[in-house]
Amino acid sequence: MFADIILPVPLPLLFTYEIPSELKNEVQTGCRVVVSFGKKRMLSGVVFSLHNKAPEAYETKPILSVLDDAPVITTDQLQLWQWIADYYQCTLGEVYKAALPSGLKLESETRIACNSDFEAESPLSNKQSEILDFLSGKKQASIQEINDVTGLKNSYPIVKQLIELEAVFVNERIQQSYRPKKEPFLSLHPGIHNENDLRLRFEQLERAPKQLHCLMTFLQKSGGVESALKGGEIAKKELLTASDSSAAPIAELIKKEILQQSQHVVSRLDNWENTLKDKKPLSDEQNTALNEVKEGFNENRPVLLHGVTSSGKTELYIHLIDDAIKQGRQALYLLPEIALTTQITSRLKAHFGDKLGIYHSKFSDAERVEVWNNLLQHNGYEVVLGVRSAIFLPFTNLGLIIVDEEHESSFKQYDPAPRYHARNVALVMARQFNANVLLGTATPSIESYFNAQTGKYKLVELSTRYEGIELPDIVVVDTRDARRRKTMKGLFSPALTEAMTTALNRKEQVILFQNRRGFAPYLECTMCAHIPKCPHCDVSLTYHKHLNHLVCHYCGYTTPTFTTCPACGNPSLELRGFGTQKVEEEIQQLFPEARVARMDLDTTRSKKGYENIISSFENGEMDILVGTQMVTKGLDFDRVSLVGILNADGMLNNPDFRAFERSFQMMAQVSGRAGRKNRRGTVVLQTSNPEHPVIDFVKRNDFAAFYQQQIEERQAYKYPPFYRLVHLTIRHKNQNVTHQAAVALGNELRKVFGSRVLGPQMPPINKIQDLYLERIMLKMERKASVTKSKQLMQNCINTILSQQRWRYVAVAADVDPL
Ligand code: ADP
Ligand code: ZN
Repeated sequence: MFADIILPVPLPLLFTYEIPSELKNEVQTGCRVVVSFGKKRMLSGVVFSLHNKAPEAYETKPILSVLDDAPVITTDQLQLWQWIADYYQCTLGEVYKAALPSGLKLESETRIACNSDFEAESPLSNKQSEILDFLSGKKQASIQEINDVTGLKNSYPIVKQLIELEAVFVNERIQQSYRPKKEPFLSLHPGIHNENDLRLRFEQLERAPKQLHCLMTFLQKSGGVESALKGGEIAKKELLTASDSSAAPIAELIKKEILQQSQHVVSRLDNWENTLKDKKPLSDEQNTALNEVKEGFNENRPVLLHGVTSSGKTELYIHLIDDAIKQGRQALYLLPEIALTTQITSRLKAHFGDKLGIYHSKFSDAERVEVWNNLLQHNGYEVVLGVRSAIFLPFTNLGLIIVDEEHESSFKQYDPAPRYHARNVALVMARQFNANVLLGTATPSIESYFNAQTGKYKLVELSTRYEGIELPDIVVVDTRDARRRKTMKGLFSPALTEAMTTALNRKEQVILFQNRRGFAPYLECTMCAHIPKCPHCDVSLTYHKHLNHLVCHYCGYTTPTFTTCPACGNPSLELRGFGTQKVEEEIQQLFPEARVARMDLDTTRSKKGYENIISSFENGEMDILVGTQMVTKGLDFDRVSLVGILNADGMLNNPDFRAFERSFQMMAQVSGRAGRKNRRGTVVLQTSNPEHPVIDFVKRNDFAAFYQQQIEERQAYKYPPFYRLVHLTIRHKNQNVTHQAAVALGNELRKVFGSRVLGPQMPPINKIQDLYLERIMLKMERKASVTKSKQLMQNCINTILSQQRWRYVAVAADVDPL
């Protein structure tokens, strides 16, 4: 017997290994196994298939060991991986690397660290102890090092046992080390045996009213004296809230041996103990829409829900998820960004409680493994809220997929491969499970709206906001004119400052949106016009004020700011461009009283970053929220009456066929944040080009007209949805080699694809991390077979890469690039 194994190496074919007779019953499709690879390496991989056919090209090696008793990857997943590899032109190994959380992905370079809290419950085997002893002397070690030191040829299975015992843990980023989450609980001290003992303690506390109050509250919350004497306990957190006290009196009670504190392990995934809320009854319009959605589902069509901001799309989702769960099926709710999960999480938690699992990249790896295993064993989660990588989870009985904000480009993975689009993978996955799909948005992507127009999707519309609040009034301000009159104060036109003053006087909140692209602050020399650039990439360095550093946003290169110009030596560097920090500073000058929060990449790096900013704004602790793209995303605030778009020009002038689509979406979305409850909001849109057609579509909120204009252009210039694009990026550390290989590849491709091949061209940024880039674009007819064109394209690439002089050139394909 043989097994084809997916290994985490970027080679196009699967490797066949022999199944030794003693492992015959253990090797199953979807299990992880350990094999040797190349001369000395050992790798763990996933069994893709079993068969009897020995490969002709090479002699097989045996599988060394099997890591799992039961598959950790389902056959549905393997099928989906294959589809992704075929469609997005990458290898199964690359899909495997993207799909599995690193805790499930042992590789010889994987770092293993000791869990210092571990206490063995039953004796460890000699080998287990040996590895633990070795690890406890060090911070961390790779599996390869463990092999070397212990003399074990293959330590994977033992490491895996230790992982399961939680004696060690795996992490790419060890500093975020995994520990079981523990919480303090309180009970009466065991020295208190009866009511008499208790009375003595009360007397002891006569002069300490706060402590007495805490003790009384404890007795009440733990179910009365009797149950407290029997060892009843409550979480310390609960006592703190219920008694409205600080930690000090509780600490005193513990010191006086009246209360006792112990640590309990709680699930890392939040427990939800509150009572669940019922679904909200729907309005007539919402009900009609819900029924139309269901009609679409009955016809087995994906549904596009085009609902204006605040029309109640999320309420509809909740009804649909509830239906799916009642039918015994799982639901997947995809969101484009972590920024959004906070608000949606609490809304979904309130309805689905413990049935809700959450999967996103700000979670630690251990938490992700927990969600994975929970689903695999069909053990509790019935709805999962996640970002794009959640499409890789092992669902067993998926009945519904919701893709919220379906137009968002962050559903697409850009680097590394697989360069997949989670919305499109979701549609394939739904077919696999015979599940329903709902795409929801206030600003559909041109592609999805086209599919709805041509009948592939069913279109359902919600055209009014819940409770009939009007869409905001959009005021367009001509900044060119204001500049000429010299009435601009920095980035602020008089109209915007005035609107802000009114809103702030009324104690209403303001959101200011500053597009990030092209507006990162950089230094320029006023003498020689030199702009400090990254030594590894073809981009200027961005100035970070709080660090006083220059940072490359492509590779992370960091250097302290220069005081003199590195080119001409004059102390004449000045800050140019503006980012959200600059906006924040100007507001502070214009409105010194206002409390300003900033939401951008810098302020949201930590796991709680978004949450803190969003909740302080929600609670009214802040008056103005300044942000990049992040503030445009479906956030829902009650007190925002004004939205300012500081500069619409940057987005519109992007040389990309999607620039207008993105600009429309961004402006319409951020406008949707204004005036959600109580009152009609205002949007002030600053631009130097007020006659621009896109500005006009936004102003009139006329998506249909915007779509019509766009779709005509797309057809005329052969762009999606009429054509399928593929980008091939050629990379090499030498610019000449890159160029020659790109030209040769272009010619090779033209032999097969003719005029469908465009380029090579230098992309706008043509050097990243010391590699020079060129790009070839292919425009394929929609009807052309993907598999066949992939094969032909790959042949051309192989022809080029097989030449000695281009051996180290890399070519990466991006299908349906965004
Ligand atoms: P969308 O997802 O379309 O932006 P939401 O579902 O967030 O809209 O709804 C906007 C606001 O209106 C939310 O605060 C929501 O709770 C409220 N809302 C929407 N529909 C209803 C309803 N049927 N009953 C009560 N409140 C509703
Ligand atoms: Zn760089």
